[in-house]
Amino acid sequence: MEDCVFCKIVKGEIPCDKVYEDDQIIVFNDIHPQAPVHLLVIPKKHIKSIAVMNEKDVALVGQMVNIATRIAAAAGISAKGFRLVTNSGEEGGQVVPHLHWHILGGRQLSGELG
Ligand code: AMP
Repeated sequence: MEDCVFCKIVKGEIPCDKVYEDDQIIVFNDIHPQAPVHLLVIPKKHIKSIAVMNEKDVALVGQMVNIATRIAAAAGISAKGFRLVTNSGEEGGQVVPHLHWHILGGRQLSGELG
């Protein structure tokens, strides 16, 4: 999508601090971390949010969760605990309209997003 910041990251037009990439998924550090570990898991395909994913995206979204749990383990936050969250739409707090999972950890999380 033309004006989507995460599509620009996928195309390499905007740099990111990448920690993982395969043919469908990229994981990179959030530019404004809310926890000692704050990573974003995005699909290369533009999907606006979890609310509008369709049946064809089920395997991709499942793989995003699978990769997120592996990355959390690699980042050393799996044993003590972490949060995997996706915001959807305005009232859900979504700012970037390209589906992404936040991986948050490395401190005690509390509240709505910790
Ligand atoms: P959300 O509010 O769920 O849409 O979260 C969007 C997240 O994307 C925020 O945590 C931002 O800090 C993060 N973000 C926005 N632009 C970038 C970027 N260029 N590189 C890394 N993270 C970004």
